Amino acid sequence: MSTGYRRIARCALAAVAILGLGAALPTIAAAAERCGPHPAAINFSYDTPKPAIDNTKPQPELQRMGQKRDTQDHEGLILGLYAAEMAWQEQPRFRISSNGASACVLVDQINVKFILQKRTIYIVNTWRSGTCPYTAILAHERKHESTDERIFREKAPIAKKRIADALSYASTASVPTSQVETTKQRLAKLIEDTLRKVTEEMVAARTTAQRAVDAGLEYKRVADSCTQFRQPS
Ligand SMILES: [Zn+2]
Repeated sequence: MSTGYRRIARCALAAVAILGLGAALPTIAAAAERCGPHPAAINFSYDTPKPAIDNTKPQPELQRMGQKRDTQDHEGLILGLYAAEMAWQEQPRFRISSNGASACVLVDQINVKFILQKRTIYIVNTWRSGTCPYTAILAHERKHESTDERIFREKAPIAKKRIADALSYASTASVPTSQVETTKQRLAKLIEDTLRKVTEEMVAARTTAQRAVDAGLEYKRVADSCTQFRQPS
């Protein structure tokens, strides 16, 4: 047996941004109007259900799960994990006005939903709810949980600015009527590409922030908090 404290909990993160295919909102057809600059309304919402608690898995299984997902130092005993997938979904809405031969295509509104899905906190089945180790492991994993939500809140304004910047050059297009659909597709692609870049940065920031939760004396603090964690030396 090794001496000293054991690693109490490692976080496993499926740090993958998944593109939810955003169904387009209905297009609004307006009367012919000047095809001028038109800042799109950008709305953000969040779908971040509380994690399910899984207290059924034996330690070796948590170890496998943690090591599979995390190539970083996994010399410690994994007793708890937090897992979630970050995803987003976007819905652009266009406004089309036409005077016959030509049409004006505007991005009128973009609804972006940031999602944390498959959120689960795993606590090793050695300890049940109410015991000191269960409570200590859960409290640690809750830090990972709140970190994910903090990253969304911190990065959302950046996402909004990036989308607005990307669209400021391209949100309006005066095109032949026959090109309305391809123009909508081009603008939707621009929005999607911009969001993809922003969410990649979000995932990188998340990885850094989640590592910071485990840094320093956090494991030692948790290990020292319950007598059950102390091992014979
Ligand atoms: Zn952790």
